[in-house]
Amino acid sequence: MRVVLIGPPGAGKGTQAAALRIRLGVPHISTGDMLREAISARTVVGEKARGIVEAGRLVPDDVMAEIVRERLEAPDAVGGFLLDGYPRNLDQAQTLDGILEGRGKGLDHVLHLALEDSEIIRRLSGRRTCESCNAPYHVTSAPPRMAGRCDVCGGRLAQRPDDKEEVVAERLKLFRERTQPLVDFYRKRGVLRDVDATGSITQVQGRLEAALGEARIGGASR
Ligand code: ADP
Repeated sequence: MRVVLIGPPGAGKGTQAAALRIRLGVPHISTGDMLREAISARTVVGEKARGIVEAGRLVPDDVMAEIVRERLEAPDAVGGFLLDGYPRNLDQAQTLDGILEGRGKGLDHVLHLALEDSEIIRRLSGRRTCESCNAPYHVTSAPPRMAGRCDVCGGRLAQRPDDKEEVVAERLKLFRERTQPLVDFYRKRGVLRDVDATGSITQVQGRLEAALGEARIGGASR
């Protein structure tokens, strides 16, 4: 199963991917997590990306193409993947098409998590992320059991530098301008599934399950 998750920052892609990857039996590939890991490990890519990511801008397409191509070639991704954070613009969507064409297997589903700007800002301002394992939390709607500590690995919870208010505005603007057009791109191809991202984590999880269920029924009758 080859699935892409698309949605504005704060729509819950990372949170939902944690459950979805188990349900689908595929690895969760988050380009944002990969970049943050590269940044903290101070790799060549990390040093190139640091200032860009912290300002909420997009890392150049050629750098991203390299990262994604290599990750999708890893043995665990051969049977499928849940890709989150890529593609983010039309050029990247074409690059992904090229990578998948080489394997003769296109995308099965593109899940679109839709959310309004006001709710995005509320969610991101309260988001905290584990510095060690990237698990996401929210100060009021998904707090950890012990304040400031990750439930999964005990790591320290921190606010991402790009979750600061002025950077969030830039990320949202870029999402609406560059990434939103991909929704129509994939809709025309017949692989898009719209999912309402409002409400609780379990409500959204239920909608994602339903969307995948319908997709399967649709696919079987085709
Ligand atoms: P978001 O919550 O904004 O979707 P991510 O964790 O997916 O956050 O990504 C964080 C940052 O990493 C982005 O704002 C951007 O700077 C960089 N990034 C991630 N994926 C890509 C990509 N496909 N192309 C360019 N930059 C990317």
